[in-house]
Amino acid sequence: MRAKLPERGGYPPGRVDGSAGPDRRVLGDILMDGLHIWATCRHCRHRASLSPLGLAKRLGYDRSLAALRRHLRCSKCGERKVELRMIEPERR
Ligand SMILES: [Zn+2]
Repeated sequence: MRAKLPERGGYPPGRVDGSAGPDRRVLGDILMDGLHIWATCRHCRHRASLSPLGLAKRLGYDRSLAALRRHLRCSKCGERKVELRMIEPERR
């Protein structure tokens, strides 16, 4: 019987493409694009802007937004249901 070894490293094959949502971006990308991150609490609607640079230094430049969201907590009510939104700086 042949054992099928999972490949190490990299992404699993056959992942769905064409769904490059904002969650696929990592902090490094956001820094490169000069975007700002706004976090909104789903519970109390408290909003705060986050520094991508500060987050990247703390959590890593390859941290995705989806992973980042799990680390965040509302500073007002303590809920973990935080929505992230990226804002593009105005360009001319
Ligand atoms: Zn809150």
